[in-house]
Amino acid sequence: MPALGLGTWKSSDDDVERAVREALEVGYRHIDCASIYGNEAAVGRALGAAFRAGDVSRDQVWITTKLWNDSHDPEHVRPALERSLGDLGLDYLDLYLMHWPIAMKHGIRRPTSPSDILPPEAIPIESTWDAMTALPATGLSRAVGVSNFSLAKIHRLHASLGRAPAVNQVEMHPLLQQPRLVEGCRVLGVALTAYSPLGSRDSAPIFGRRDDVILLEHPTVLDIAQRHGATPAQVLIAWSLARQIAVIPKSTHSERIRENFAAQSLVLTDDDRIALGWLDRHHRYIDGNGFFKGTAHTYESLWDEPATTAFERRDTERLIPLPPLRDPV
Ligand code: NAP
Repeated sequence: MPALGLGTWKSSDDDVERAVREALEVGYRHIDCASIYGNEAAVGRALGAAFRAGDVSRDQVWITTKLWNDSHDPEHVRPALERSLGDLGLDYLDLYLMHWPIAMKHGIRRPTSPSDILPPEAIPIESTWDAMTALPATGLSRAVGVSNFSLAKIHRLHASLGRAPAVNQVEMHPLLQQPRLVEGCRVLGVALTAYSPLGSRDSAPIFGRRDDVILLEHPTVLDIAQRHGATPAQVLIAWSLARQIAVIPKSTHSERIRENFAAQSLVLTDDDRIALGWLDRHHRYIDGNGFFKGTAHTYESLWDEPATTAFERRDTERLIPLPPLRDPV
């Protein structure tokens, strides 16, 4: 999986079509999609145009998309994948992810009542995962994985079927470093992809969130950027790449698409990485709270960790030794 990809959440059809085309021209070879983003057809138009123009061939680009929560029933898994393939105009995916470990009633895109969200025992994640692991043999997806899974849930999948996901896509940035998840996934051979690596500013209005820390404006990030003659976004992307974690920043602006891609040549120093390491406060911008109100799901049941304050959670994380830093790939 190419380590740097383009995110597509919140991108309108017109914007994403232009952004994907430009990203492929700049050199991106990994596009992150999802059925719930509602723009797979526009991504597909950009891919089709790039293939026809000879900018890139299908086997040179890595396409990920995701199973929405309303299709966890094993009999809905393959049809959902086939719908995404149809929208994307592709014969196969490189990676198909279970978007969340939470199932909803079939046909529900965005839940409007608590009864739209099923209790955890209604469709256990193991049965959805069982159906997903059958997909690579069909040729419809080269690999399958999960997203928003805690280490405990990854262990549950592994224990039930003996097959760990190829990838776990989770929120990850200097405020949410998750060293135990990183180490646990490494042990099981599960690759990680970092979503919302820039702090997902444009999702704040969607969730009515008032971010107390703006990652792209954090003084430590600004300071490191200034010392390298780089931008804050480049520092955050380079930080993820230095941890050998794939990263999928979203932008629909040409200059930022280029800027983010160029982050691959930024090499952070040990001091930079130590300084960024100290920013960890286990802070989630995307905490899944839209799934909790009036349902059987809670912060604790989703993330398998206590919903204590960010400061307390940071201290718990700090009890676990950090994995050694590695050289950038
Ligand atoms: P993000 O990539 O952290 O941040 C996107 C925001 O940063 C947008 O407002 C974007 O604005 C801005 N931005 C991009 N490049 C910039 C730069 N160089 N300088 C300043 N601002 C910049 O947030 P995200 O979209 O939440 O996460 C990235 C991708 O991860 C998503 O698009 C999606 O593909 C995936 N994701 C997956 C899940 C999941 O549940 N699996 C959840 C969240 C995200 P412009 O677009 O206006 O440039």
